[in-house]
Amino acid sequence: MTIYLHDTRQGRKIAFVPMKDDEVTMYLCGPTVYNYAHIGNARPAVVFDLLARVLRRRYKLTFARNITDVDDKINAAAVQTGKPIGEITARFIEAYNEDMAALGVQPPDIEPRATRHIAQMIEMIRTLIDKGFAYEAEGHVLFDVERYADYGRLSKRNLREMIAGSRIEVAPYKRSSHDFVLWKPSTPELPGWESPWGVGRPGWHIECSAMAAAHLGDTIDIHGGGQDLVFPHHENELAQSRCAHDGADFARYWVHNGFLSMDHEKMSKSLGNVVLVRELLESVPGEVIRLALLGAHYRQPLDWSEETMDSARRMLDRLYGAVRGIEVGAAARAAAKPPDALVEALEDDLNTPKAMKEFFALARALNKATDAAERAALAAQMYACGDLMGFLQTDPENWFAGEGSGDLSVDEINAMLARRTAARETRDYAAADAIRDELAAAGIGIEDGPDGTTWRRLE
Ligand code: AMP
Ligand code: ZN
Repeated sequence: MTIYLHDTRQGRKIAFVPMKDDEVTMYLCGPTVYNYAHIGNARPAVVFDLLARVLRRRYKLTFARNITDVDDKINAAAVQTGKPIGEITARFIEAYNEDMAALGVQPPDIEPRATRHIAQMIEMIRTLIDKGFAYEAEGHVLFDVERYADYGRLSKRNLREMIAGSRIEVAPYKRSSHDFVLWKPSTPELPGWESPWGVGRPGWHIECSAMAAAHLGDTIDIHGGGQDLVFPHHENELAQSRCAHDGADFARYWVHNGFLSMDHEKMSKSLGNVVLVRELLESVPGEVIRLALLGAHYRQPLDWSEETMDSARRMLDRLYGAVRGIEVGAAARAAAKPPDALVEALEDDLNTPKAMKEFFALARALNKATDAAERAALAAQMYACGDLMGFLQTDPENWFAGEGSGDLSVDEINAMLARRTAARETRDYAAADAIRDELAAAGIGIEDGPDGTTWRRLE
């Protein structure tokens, strides 16, 4: 089976063939660290984490996800809070990594920070000026879009029409309204670095081009991000990287996730309709959020609601319920393989709805099986699927114990179940039923299965 990915530039799903036979490079635009991540921000992190896991099964992957730690929004947050910029970015980098870890996002191989690559950015800007693709004006350096014939190809825009219909107020130092900033001057209160064009700071787009080149080379295999980044961010990254690198392609596959909305309105910090990952994690396990994000295909829009999460929780209850009570050692878990159909679904442009169907087919087979060895093998296979997709990472007993906050403690419940089992063994069914009713009244549901009695807290 070949891996297929939807490539934004070609506008269709195509076979993924990396530049080198067994190595892949991937770059994902990471967070701008001035605030806590909302679940919309978590979508690309989770989607590309899954893609990284799928790629790692076959290739040696080098995955870079940057941190934008110099940006006007960060400067604004510093002014608003009266805190130094470094303090703000350090705090939100840590928070971001904690939140993503809670969603099962594995750390990328490289997490480059913009402020640590200023020299590379300056170098790239200098090259662009030397080659005639950029010009200096009033302390700014601008990219000259007219000099790059393919401008607009990625985002399917036509530069002539863009300029004609432009409502951007043309700054007096710009040659054309769509020329974009590579470098801009800083005042003493703002972060700034010495450069051939005076003390200043980089534009956002050049940050990613320079960091990608520094860590992954002039041409990378996959470039990812949310759909909103296609224009102008990725169009501009592409333009400046190609021009700086003598026309070498910048990214061979462009992969973009769809937007997450709430009440059908885009979730964004500027609109203020955000749900923070951090807040959600107070009441919901990270795996529920991860499944809610992966439940829809990554290119589809996803409208976030309580129902999305309830349904993800019910699905995970079913998966955990299937493996509950079955002992699977670490070696058996590591040796087990997910079913081909599930892997094929993921390799087909990350078809997560289909992959989840296969996951449930496995859970059903396990629920039906009665032979202990077969049950153990199926449970090991379920864990293998979980390890690939980032689910079933908690002990099933803890999963069910952690749900809700009933009045009975786990020890109390187990003691009652033991009494019930004893009553059943002496055929005292009335006593056994009374305990079941008492548990039900306390919000605990029980189920008798081939491996004994299991319980869970009811909604
Ligand atoms: P930012 O921190 O705003 O630069 O965004 C970081 C990443 O989150 C980018 O890849 C954005 O495309 C993505 N993103 C922001 N808002 C949403 C949303 N509502 N749905 C999906 N992705 C989003
Ligand atoms: Zn970027």
